[in-house]
Amino acid sequence: MKPFDYVKPRQLAEAVSLLSADDPDTRPVSGGTAIMLMMKAGVLRPARLVSLRHVEDEFRQIAVAADGSLHIGGMTTLAELERSPEIQQGWPMLARTFKTLSNIRVRNVAMIGGNLAHGDPHMDMPPVLTALGATVVIQGPNGSRELPVKDLCLGYYETALAGNELITKVIVPPMQGRQAAYFKVTTRVSHDWPTLGLAAVVKMEQDRLADARLIVGAATDRPTSLDNAVQLLVGQPLSDALLKQAGEEAAHGLDIVSDQHGSAQYKKHLLSVYLGRAVRAAVGGGQQEAS
Ligand SMILES: Cc1cc2nc3c(=O)[nH]c(=O)nc-3n(C[C@H](O)[C@H](O)[C@H](O)COP(=O)(O)OP(=O)(O)OC[C@H]3O[C@@H](n4cnc5c(N)ncnc54)[C@H](O)[C@@H]3O)c2cc1C
Repeated sequence: MKPFDYVKPRQLAEAVSLLSADDPDTRPVSGGTAIMLMMKAGVLRPARLVSLRHVEDEFRQIAVAADGSLHIGGMTTLAELERSPEIQQGWPMLARTFKTLSNIRVRNVAMIGGNLAHGDPHMDMPPVLTALGATVVIQGPNGSRELPVKDLCLGYYETALAGNELITKVIVPPMQGRQAAYFKVTTRVSHDWPTLGLAAVVKMEQDRLADARLIVGAATDRPTSLDNAVQLLVGQPLSDALLKQAGEEAAHGLDIVSDQHGSAQYKKHLLSVYLGRAVRAAVGGGQQEAS
């Protein structure tokens, strides 16, 4: 690995000032679990890493705001998130998903900001947070901006972040009667990278779906909304036949890519089967989630 400088600013503003929009040689680092692998593989060769581990404590807080939304500091570790009573109580699907992101050694150091900034289309949190309608707060040299998570991921390792912008917060709206489930389908252990990720957030009115968000991950180059399936399902009484049809529509209409976790054909088949299971699990409060 190419030698590099490692700086440890104590303030977020200082960390931002050390970065540059035009200089890819200086990179921020949170837990280092993704960037160090890329550096070891020679994919990235930065001359300087700016650590975010020592910035102010306010960027590691988990709090529920007065409007009921969840505010997560960008430098909170994934392990802190999976153990949070606030998240377990108000956003149980989120708490369950955090436990499936890699192994505990990674989760102890990886941070939610680094997780979302990494931009690997196989990651679990972008589809989950997109389905929940979450936004990120991004700090740059001229102030902060808010961006829906759905607009953060632009493609393979490509995000809407400039080189001198940092994710400092994630805001998740309250569930307000919505129910959610995430199916992470893996070919090996449950915390392995997904072959397919499917997040379902639904609102029921009696036996009908009043509203739904269905987001697929790990099959396309960014989290993708399954609008065809949603259109078929909303307003209709849920039946196995309708869910099967929605699953097949979703799989048919999607440009899926093959990768080391499965062929495009296999992923299409998984999507057609798991869409109905994800909706049923969401309606049941996530109790039947499996992988
Ligand atoms: C063995 C293994 C298995 C894994 N399995 C899964 C899995 O099943 N599902 C899954 O979703 N993930 C999985 N991961 C990925 C893991 O979740 C990521 O490595 C981790 O979340 C990245 O967080 P980090 O804090 O270590 O990021 P870092 O490695 O520190 O940074 C990642 C990228 O983000 C940039 N960055 C860091 N922090 C910020 C910030 N606050 N603002 C802007 N840019 C920033 C860095 O410059 C770098 O480009 C796995 C990882 C490993 C090593």
